[in-house]
Amino acid sequence: MSRAGVGQPTYYAKPDPRFPFPHSPVPTRCQSEPTLFDFTNGDRSGTSRAATERRLAKARRACSVCPIVKDCLKWALVNKDLTKVGIVAATTPSQRTTLRKRMVDRLGPDWIDVLAEQDQARRERAAAARHTPLTVSQARIIRLDREVNGPMPKPLTPAQQQRNLARLMAGLKAA
Ligand code: SF4
Repeated sequence: MSRAGVGQPTYYAKPDPRFPFPHSPVPTRCQSEPTLFDFTNGDRSGTSRAATERRLAKARRACSVCPIVKDCLKWALVNKDLTKVGIVAATTPSQRTTLRKRMVDRLGPDWIDVLAEQDQARRERAAAARHTPLTVSQARIIRLDREVNGPMPKPLTPAQQQRNLARLMAGLKAA
């Protein structure tokens, strides 16, 4: 879906570099089955309305279980020129237009810049948290915990579990 919309001059729209497409830990359905999401003539293409509705429902279901649906939706909203057609993040083009209007209501006409700033601040906070060393008291608590409790015990082997169970049963019989 890298092409600008139908009827546009032939050019390839570029994604907003501030919003990289989210990484998915597994292949997404739109990668493995792109035709399911391709409503190139708008929301109501297809042989019959019922067939189109079925295909829409199937595409929406696929998106609803996608691990990156939330970030995919954000990407689709900010990259308007790249998402003029098709189902993206379970939304049709007209639903995305409605959502963009809501974003203007909530965050103002510069809502994309506002989102980019929020994302940047979040990334900086996460980076700072990764690089901030433990405070003296946090380090003391961790040391104390190791001294008192020792290292985490290893899980029991199946043979040890069997032996423990046999002892327990014998103890119960004797009681
Ligand atoms: S949520 Fe986005 S990435 Fe996932 S299947 Fe739908 S369109 Fe593809």
